Amino acid sequence: MPPNKSNTQASRKKASGATSGGRKSARNTKQQSKGLTVLINLLVLAAVLVGIYIANIPADSSDGHRAASSAQTQKTGLPASKVKPASGEADEKLEVHFFDVGQGDSTLVVTPSGETILIDAGQNNKGELVVDYLKELGIDRLDAVIATHPDADHIGGLDIVVNKLDVKSVYAPRVAHTTQTYKDFLNAVKHKGLTIKAARSGTSLPLSDGVTASFAAPVNSYGDHFNEWSAVLRLEYGNTSFLFTGDAEQESEADMLASGFKLAADVLKVGHHGSRTSSSQAFLHAVKPRYAVISAGTGNKYGHPHDVILKRLAKAGASVYRTDKQGSVVAYSNGHEIWMTTDKGS
Ligand SMILES: [Zn+2]
Repeated sequence: MPPNKSNTQASRKKASGATSGGRKSARNTKQQSKGLTVLINLLVLAAVLVGIYIANIPADSSDGHRAASSAQTQKTGLPASKVKPASGEADEKLEVHFFDVGQGDSTLVVTPSGETILIDAGQNNKGELVVDYLKELGIDRLDAVIATHPDADHIGGLDIVVNKLDVKSVYAPRVAHTTQTYKDFLNAVKHKGLTIKAARSGTSLPLSDGVTASFAAPVNSYGDHFNEWSAVLRLEYGNTSFLFTGDAEQESEADMLASGFKLAADVLKVGHHGSRTSSSQAFLHAVKPRYAVISAGTGNKYGHPHDVILKRLAKAGASVYRTDKQGSVVAYSNGHEIWMTTDKGS
């Protein structure tokens, strides 16, 4: 390497100069001058080495300090679960309820001014339960209902919800299913005099309060792979963000990544109940969730959530919440901070 080579040559030159100067005693002045040059060179070398030493130590230790404190910030920067901010801010909060509907999904967003978005309503036999959850929260109007995809564990209960509540608009991806469950959903929407709006990447929901929400997926068409068709909603309130992925799997995740859609989110509703067919490494890397919520049924036959995904989420730095272990999970945001509560503690 050039720098080493030239250093070696320089030090050889110096050494030979000193030796020859020692032998030729008659040329005292030149000898002294050479000796002085060697001394100066040594001092310069020593100064450079000390300089490098001093420059390196603080640089390394300050980098290390920064890395440690940023890791700590990621873990503890947000309030721990169940710690609420000052009461003055309580009315300004956005709430996201991940209802426990067993094996399935049902998520409610309530904005600070009371606008409501319901994403899915669990299986057929969970419709009444979702209606009860909504009633308990004093909600009889849904500004938007999102049917993420036509599978029964997502739209099964939606017909009952649509029939019983005042629904303003319904969004679903442009894919149909032949099941009775799907027909029931369509009939309920039709009965209310509503038409389904297409959920696709780039479509936004009309919301106020500085809350914005738009679909990150579906980006493409996916034939009869219903999971991949899942409407994926990303919501922002102040500096906080949420990503609701339905059952989107790795093909849709790759398409979302390729689309350039902003995916980063503080809270991630983990895709497909924590199945290994979703939550690819690259997708989690883009989302960087602080909190990951998995909606799954206790002892479900699919083995959801899969261990590999739980480990991947933990490695990504996310605190994991599970409806199968903790019952309904609620995330609150005041636009700056997020805090979580669960039905069953822990
Ligand atoms: Zn599902």
